[in-house]
Amino acid sequence: MTDVFSRLIGQSVTADALRHHARHPVHAYLFLGPSGAGVHEAMTAFAAALQCPDHGCATCAVCVRVLEGADPDVQRIERAGLAWRIDEIREAERVARRRPLGEGHQVVILEDVELTVSGASPSAPALLKSLEEPPARTVFLLGAAELPEALETVTSRCLLVRLAAPRDADIEERLRAEGVSADAAHAAAGAALGSLERARVLADDPALAARLDWWRGVPDRLTGTPAAASALAREVGVILDEAMAPLDRSLAEAAAREREEASQFGVRAANRRELEAQARREQRRFRTEELTLGLSTMTAVYRERLARELEASRDGDGRADSRVAATLRRLDALLEAQRRLATTLDEGLLLHDLLFTLSDF
Ligand SMILES: [Zn+2]
Repeated sequence: MTDVFSRLIGQSVTADALRHHARHPVHAYLFLGPSGAGVHEAMTAFAAALQCPDHGCATCAVCVRVLEGADPDVQRIERAGLAWRIDEIREAERVARRRPLGEGHQVVILEDVELTVSGASPSAPALLKSLEEPPARTVFLLGAAELPEALETVTSRCLLVRLAAPRDADIEERLRAEGVSADAAHAAAGAALGSLERARVLADDPALAARLDWWRGVPDRLTGTPAAASALAREVGVILDEAMAPLDRSLAEAAAREREEASQFGVRAANRRELEAQARREQRRFRTEELTLGLSTMTAVYRERLARELEASRDGDGRADSRVAATLRRLDALLEAQRRLATTLDEGLLLHDLLFTLSDF
Protein backbone atom coordinates (compact mmCIF):
# COMPACT_ATOMS: atom_id res chain seq x y z
CA MET A 1 0.00 0.00 0.00
CA THR A 2 1.30 3.44 -0.92
CA ASP A 3 -0.07 6.35 1.04
CA VAL A 4 1.13 9.38 2.99
CA PHE A 5 2.59 7.10 5.67
CA SER A 6 4.76 5.15 3.20
CA ARG A 7 7.27 7.98 3.33
CA LEU A 8 7.92 7.39 7.05
CA ILE A 9 10.78 4.95 7.26
CA GLY A 10 11.27 2.34 9.98
CA GLN A 11 7.88 3.20 11.58
CA SER A 12 5.58 0.50 10.22
CA VAL A 13 3.77 -0.18 13.53
CA THR A 14 3.24 3.53 14.18
CA ALA A 15 2.10 4.05 10.59
CA ASP A 16 -0.59 1.37 11.00
CA ALA A 17 -1.83 3.03 14.19
CA LEU A 18 -1.94 6.41 12.45
CA ARG A 19 -3.90 4.92 9.51
CA HIS A 20 -6.50 3.79 12.00
CA HIS A 21 -6.57 7.14 13.82
CA ALA A 22 -6.95 9.11 10.59
CA ARG A 23 -10.44 7.57 10.37
CA HIS A 24 -11.27 7.96 14.05
CA PRO A 25 -9.22 10.86 15.41
CA VAL A 26 -9.15 12.03 19.03
CA HIS A 27 -8.70 15.73 19.91
CA ALA A 28 -4.97 15.82 20.51
CA TYR A 29 -1.88 13.82 19.58
CA LEU A 30 1.63 14.15 20.90
CA PHE A 31 4.30 12.93 18.48
CA LEU A 32 7.39 12.03 20.47
CA GLY A 33 10.73 11.20 18.86
CA PRO A 34 14.41 12.17 18.88
CA SER A 35 15.92 14.40 16.21
CA GLY A 36 15.90 12.40 12.98
CA ALA A 37 12.88 10.31 13.92
CA GLY A 38 10.76 12.32 11.51
CA VAL A 39 8.36 13.96 13.99
CA HIS A 40 7.77 16.78 11.51
CA GLU A 41 7.14 14.40 8.59
CA ALA A 42 4.85 12.15 10.64
CA MET A 43 2.73 15.09 11.77
CA THR A 44 2.44 16.41 8.22
CA ALA A 45 1.51 12.97 6.87
CA PHE A 46 -1.09 12.53 9.60
CA ALA A 47 -2.55 15.99 8.89
CA ALA A 48 -2.93 14.99 5.22
CA ALA A 49 -4.59 11.71 6.22
CA LEU A 50 -7.02 13.62 8.47
CA GLN A 51 -8.08 15.90 5.62
CA CYS A 52 -8.05 13.44 2.71
CA PRO A 53 -11.41 11.85 1.78
CA ASP A 54 -9.46 8.58 1.37
CA HIS A 55 -7.56 9.03 4.64
CA GLY A 56 -4.15 9.80 3.18
CA CYS A 57 -3.92 8.55 -0.43
CA ALA A 58 -0.91 10.88 -1.01
CA THR A 59 -2.04 11.72 -4.54
CA CYS A 60 -5.35 13.64 -4.37
CA ALA A 61 -5.48 17.45 -4.41
CA VAL A 62 -6.21 17.57 -0.66
CA CYS A 63 -3.19 15.42 0.25
CA VAL A 64 -0.90 17.40 -2.04
CA ARG A 65 -2.11 20.69 -0.59
CA VAL A 66 -1.47 19.56 3.01
CA LEU A 67 1.92 18.02 2.18
CA GLU A 68 2.96 21.30 0.54
CA GLY A 69 1.87 23.25 3.60
CA ALA A 70 -0.85 25.07 1.65
CA ASP A 71 -4.06 23.81 3.28
CA PRO A 72 -5.72 26.76 5.09
CA ASP A 73 -7.29 24.36 7.63
CA VAL A 74 -3.90 22.93 8.63
CA GLN A 75 -2.17 25.64 10.63
CA ARG A 76 1.39 25.35 11.86
CA ILE A 77 1.98 27.75 14.73
CA GLU A 78 5.42 29.39 14.69
CA ARG A 79 7.57 30.33 17.63
CA ALA A 80 9.85 33.36 17.51
CA GLY A 81 12.26 32.65 20.35
CA LEU A 82 13.96 29.72 22.07
CA ALA A 83 10.88 29.02 24.23
CA TRP A 84 7.17 29.19 23.40
CA ARG A 85 5.61 32.48 24.51
CA ILE A 86 2.15 32.65 26.06
CA ASP A 87 0.80 34.89 23.27
CA GLU A 88 1.99 32.35 20.70
CA ILE A 89 0.08 29.60 22.51
CA ARG A 90 -2.99 31.87 22.66
CA GLU A 91 -2.70 32.28 18.88
CA ALA A 92 -2.83 28.48 18.61
CA GLU A 93 -5.96 28.44 20.76
CA ARG A 94 -7.57 31.13 18.58
CA VAL A 95 -6.84 29.07 15.44
CA ALA A 96 -8.20 25.95 17.15
CA ARG A 97 -11.56 27.68 17.67
CA ARG A 98 -11.96 28.39 13.95
CA ARG A 99 -14.46 26.50 11.90
CA PRO A 100 -12.63 24.66 9.09
CA LEU A 101 -13.18 26.06 5.58
CA GLY A 102 -13.16 22.61 3.96
CA GLU A 103 -14.84 19.31 4.68
CA GLY A 104 -12.08 18.06 6.96
CA HIS A 105 -10.73 19.14 10.31
CA GLN A 106 -9.19 22.27 11.77
CA VAL A 107 -5.67 20.97 12.41
CA VAL A 108 -3.33 22.91 14.69
CA ILE A 109 0.35 21.91 14.66
CA LEU A 110 2.86 22.90 17.34
CA GLU A 111 6.37 21.50 17.34
CA ASP A 112 8.89 21.36 20.20
CA VAL A 113 6.25 21.63 22.92
CA GLU A 114 8.89 20.71 25.51
CA LEU A 115 9.82 24.38 25.11
CA THR A 116 6.59 25.42 26.84
CA VAL A 117 8.05 24.55 30.23
CA SER A 118 11.23 26.63 29.81
CA GLY A 119 11.76 30.37 29.49
CA ALA A 120 10.94 33.25 31.82
CA SER A 121 7.19 32.60 31.91
CA PRO A 122 6.41 29.00 30.93
CA SER A 123 3.47 28.70 28.56
CA ALA A 124 2.56 25.08 29.38
CA PRO A 125 -0.49 26.12 31.48
CA ALA A 126 -1.82 28.10 28.50
CA LEU A 127 -1.24 25.08 26.24
CA LEU A 128 -3.04 22.83 28.72
CA LYS A 129 -5.99 25.21 28.76
CA SER A 130 -6.24 25.31 24.96
CA LEU A 131 -6.39 21.48 24.91
CA GLU A 132 -9.49 21.57 27.12
CA GLU A 133 -12.70 20.97 25.21
CA PRO A 134 -11.63 22.02 21.71
CA PRO A 135 -14.41 22.25 19.07
CA ALA A 136 -15.52 18.90 17.69
CA ARG A 137 -13.69 19.21 14.36
CA THR A 138 -10.41 20.47 15.82
CA VAL A 139 -7.36 18.20 16.13
CA PHE A 140 -4.14 19.29 17.85
CA LEU A 141 -0.87 17.76 16.65
CA LEU A 142 1.92 18.43 19.12
CA GLY A 143 5.53 17.41 18.57
CA ALA A 144 8.36 16.92 21.08
CA ALA A 145 11.84 15.42 21.20
CA GLU A 146 11.53 14.67 24.91
CA LEU A 147 8.95 14.86 27.67
CA PRO A 148 10.04 16.78 30.76
CA GLU A 149 8.07 15.94 33.90
CA ALA A 150 6.50 19.41 33.94
CA LEU A 151 4.72 18.49 30.71
CA GLU A 152 2.90 15.53 32.29
CA THR A 153 -0.50 17.24 32.50
CA VAL A 154 -0.29 18.23 28.82
CA THR A 155 0.74 14.70 27.87
CA SER A 156 -2.19 13.22 29.80
CA ARG A 157 -4.60 15.03 27.46
CA CYS A 158 -2.97 13.63 24.32
CA LEU A 159 -2.67 10.33 22.61
CA LEU A 160 1.06 9.59 22.57
CA VAL A 161 2.63 8.61 19.23
CA ARG A 162 6.17 7.35 19.72
CA LEU A 163 8.61 7.55 16.80
CA ALA A 164 11.98 5.81 16.83
CA ALA A 165 14.97 7.15 14.92
CA PRO A 166 15.41 4.95 11.83
CA ARG A 167 18.44 2.66 11.66
CA ASP A 168 21.33 3.56 9.32
CA ALA A 169 20.54 0.44 7.25
CA ASP A 170 16.93 1.62 6.70
CA ILE A 171 18.17 5.00 5.53
CA GLU A 172 20.77 3.44 3.25
CA GLU A 173 18.14 1.18 1.69
CA ARG A 174 15.79 4.11 1.11
CA LEU A 175 18.55 6.18 -0.56
CA ARG A 176 19.41 3.24 -2.83
CA ALA A 177 15.73 2.97 -3.78
CA GLU A 178 15.82 6.67 -4.64
CA GLY A 179 18.67 6.07 -7.06
CA VAL A 180 21.71 7.04 -4.96
CA SER A 181 24.85 4.98 -5.67
CA ALA A 182 25.86 2.30 -3.15
CA ASP A 183 28.95 4.15 -1.88
CA ALA A 184 27.24 7.52 -1.54
CA ALA A 185 24.22 5.93 0.17
CA HIS A 186 26.44 4.13 2.68
CA ALA A 187 28.49 7.23 3.49
CA ALA A 188 25.46 9.52 3.75
CA ALA A 189 23.48 7.10 5.96
CA GLY A 190 26.47 6.74 8.29
CA ALA A 191 26.70 10.52 8.79
CA ALA A 192 22.97 11.25 8.83
CA LEU A 193 22.42 10.87 12.60
CA GLY A 194 19.25 8.91 11.89
CA SER A 195 17.64 11.57 9.71
CA LEU A 196 16.50 10.70 6.20
CA GLU A 197 16.21 14.37 5.24
CA ARG A 198 19.79 14.95 6.29
CA ALA A 199 20.92 11.78 4.49
CA ARG A 200 19.36 13.07 1.26
CA VAL A 201 21.32 16.31 1.52
CA LEU A 202 24.56 14.46 2.32
CA ALA A 203 24.09 11.99 -0.55
CA ASP A 204 24.22 15.03 -2.81
CA ASP A 205 27.35 16.42 -1.17
CA PRO A 206 30.67 15.36 -2.74
CA ALA A 207 32.60 17.08 0.08
CA LEU A 208 31.23 14.85 2.87
CA ALA A 209 34.21 12.47 3.00
CA ALA A 210 36.72 15.35 3.02
CA ARG A 211 34.80 17.04 5.82
CA LEU A 212 34.81 13.91 7.98
CA ASP A 213 38.59 13.63 7.40
CA TRP A 214 38.96 17.25 8.46
CA TRP A 215 37.11 16.60 11.75
CA ARG A 216 39.18 13.46 12.35
CA GLY A 217 42.32 15.57 11.96
CA VAL A 218 41.34 18.19 14.55
CA PRO A 219 42.74 16.42 17.68
CA ASP A 220 46.20 16.18 16.10
CA ARG A 221 46.16 19.87 15.23
CA LEU A 222 45.48 21.02 18.80
CA THR A 223 49.12 21.57 19.52
CA GLY A 224 48.64 23.35 22.78
CA THR A 225 48.94 27.00 21.80
CA PRO A 226 45.99 29.37 22.24
CA ALA A 227 46.59 30.68 18.72
CA ALA A 228 46.17 27.20 17.24
CA ALA A 229 42.92 26.70 19.15
CA SER A 230 41.55 30.08 18.04
CA ALA A 231 42.46 29.42 14.42
CA LEU A 232 40.71 26.04 14.53
CA ALA A 233 37.57 27.55 16.08
CA ARG A 234 37.42 29.96 13.14
CA GLU A 235 38.04 27.14 10.67
CA VAL A 236 35.12 25.16 12.12
CA GLY A 237 32.85 28.09 11.24
CA VAL A 238 34.06 27.95 7.64
CA ILE A 239 33.64 24.15 7.50
CA LEU A 240 30.06 24.48 8.78
CA ASP A 241 29.29 27.16 6.18
CA GLU A 242 30.62 24.86 3.46
CA ALA A 243 28.55 21.95 4.79
CA MET A 244 25.44 24.12 4.54
CA ALA A 245 26.00 24.83 0.83
CA PRO A 246 24.07 21.85 -0.68
CA LEU A 247 21.11 22.50 1.66
CA ASP A 248 21.16 26.23 0.91
CA ARG A 249 21.19 25.40 -2.78
CA SER A 250 18.18 23.08 -2.59
CA LEU A 251 16.27 25.58 -0.41
CA ALA A 252 17.02 28.35 -2.92
CA GLU A 253 15.75 26.15 -5.75
CA ALA A 254 12.57 25.40 -3.81
CA ALA A 255 12.08 29.12 -3.12
CA ALA A 256 12.53 29.94 -6.82
CA ARG A 257 9.96 27.29 -7.79
CA GLU A 258 7.64 28.73 -5.18
CA ARG A 259 8.05 32.27 -6.56
CA GLU A 260 7.28 31.05 -10.06
CA GLU A 261 4.13 29.22 -8.92
CA ALA A 262 3.12 32.26 -6.89
CA SER A 263 3.30 34.50 -9.95
CA GLN A 264 1.31 31.95 -11.96
CA PHE A 265 -1.37 31.03 -9.46
CA GLY A 266 -1.28 33.84 -6.93
CA VAL A 267 -0.23 32.13 -3.72
CA ARG A 268 -1.01 33.79 -0.41
CA ALA A 269 1.78 35.69 1.33
CA ALA A 270 1.11 33.62 4.47
CA ASN A 271 2.25 30.49 2.62
CA ARG A 272 5.44 32.18 1.59
CA ARG A 273 6.16 33.26 5.16
CA GLU A 274 5.51 29.72 6.34
CA LEU A 275 7.96 28.37 3.74
CA GLU A 276 10.60 30.89 4.73
CA ALA A 277 10.21 30.03 8.41
CA GLN A 278 10.44 26.35 7.53
CA ALA A 279 13.64 26.97 5.54
CA ARG A 280 15.22 28.80 8.50
CA ARG A 281 14.26 25.92 10.80
CA GLU A 282 15.81 23.42 8.42
CA GLN A 283 19.02 25.46 8.19
CA ARG A 284 19.32 25.78 11.95
CA ARG A 285 18.68 22.08 12.45
CA PHE A 286 21.15 21.06 9.75
CA ARG A 287 23.92 23.24 11.17
CA THR A 288 23.43 21.82 14.66
CA GLU A 289 23.41 18.29 13.25
CA GLU A 290 26.57 18.97 11.27
CA LEU A 291 28.32 20.17 14.41
CA THR A 292 27.01 17.12 16.27
CA LEU A 293 28.53 14.95 13.57
CA GLY A 294 31.85 16.79 13.87
CA LEU A 295 31.94 16.42 17.65
CA SER A 296 31.06 12.73 17.49
CA THR A 297 33.76 12.20 14.84
CA MET A 298 36.29 13.81 17.19
CA THR A 299 34.95 11.72 20.06
CA ALA A 300 35.67 8.57 18.04
CA VAL A 301 39.27 9.73 17.52
CA TYR A 302 39.79 10.30 21.26
CA ARG A 303 38.18 6.92 22.03
CA GLU A 304 40.70 5.19 19.73
CA ARG A 305 43.45 7.16 21.44
CA LEU A 306 42.16 6.08 24.85
CA ALA A 307 42.20 2.41 23.81
CA ARG A 308 45.86 2.70 22.74
CA GLU A 309 46.84 4.52 25.95
CA LEU A 310 45.08 1.95 28.15
CA GLU A 311 46.97 -0.79 26.38
CA ALA A 312 50.27 1.06 26.90
CA SER A 313 49.39 1.48 30.58
CA ARG A 314 48.72 -2.26 30.93
CA ASP A 315 52.06 -2.93 29.23
CA GLY A 316 53.73 -0.99 32.03
CA ASP A 317 54.33 2.36 30.33
CA GLY A 318 54.60 4.65 33.37
CA ARG A 319 53.65 7.83 31.57
CA ALA A 320 50.52 6.33 30.00
CA ASP A 321 48.36 6.85 33.11
CA SER A 322 48.50 10.63 32.96
CA ARG A 323 47.73 10.49 29.25
CA VAL A 324 44.69 8.29 29.97
CA ALA A 325 43.45 10.86 32.51
CA ALA A 326 43.93 13.71 30.01
CA THR A 327 42.06 11.85 27.27
CA LEU A 328 39.18 11.05 29.62
CA ARG A 329 38.99 14.75 30.51
CA ARG A 330 38.78 15.59 26.81
CA LEU A 331 36.03 13.04 26.20
CA ASP A 332 34.10 14.67 29.07
CA ALA A 333 34.56 18.08 27.47
CA LEU A 334 33.20 16.75 24.16
CA LEU A 335 30.19 15.23 25.90
CA GLU A 336 29.53 18.51 27.70
CA ALA A 337 29.78 20.43 24.40
CA GLN A 338 27.27 18.07 22.77
CA ARG A 339 24.92 18.63 25.68
CA ARG A 340 25.27 22.41 25.40
CA LEU A 341 24.69 22.30 21.66
CA ALA A 342 20.96 21.67 22.13
CA THR A 343 20.38 24.86 24.08
CA THR A 344 23.09 27.33 23.11
CA LEU A 345 22.57 30.26 20.78
CA ASP A 346 26.27 31.03 20.61
CA GLU A 347 27.98 28.38 18.50
CA GLY A 348 31.23 30.41 18.43
CA LEU A 349 31.55 30.58 22.20
CA LEU A 350 30.82 26.88 22.58
CA LEU A 351 33.55 25.97 20.06
CA HIS A 352 36.01 28.37 21.61
CA ASP A 353 35.45 26.86 25.08
CA LEU A 354 35.68 23.33 23.74
CA LEU A 355 38.83 23.74 21.65
CA PHE A 356 40.62 25.55 24.48
CA THR A 357 39.71 22.75 26.90
CA LEU A 358 40.86 20.09 24.41
CA SER A 359 44.18 21.92 23.92
CA ASP A 360 44.98 21.78 27.64
CA PHE A 361 47.63 24.55 27.73
ZN1 LIG B 1 -5.63 12.06 -0.53
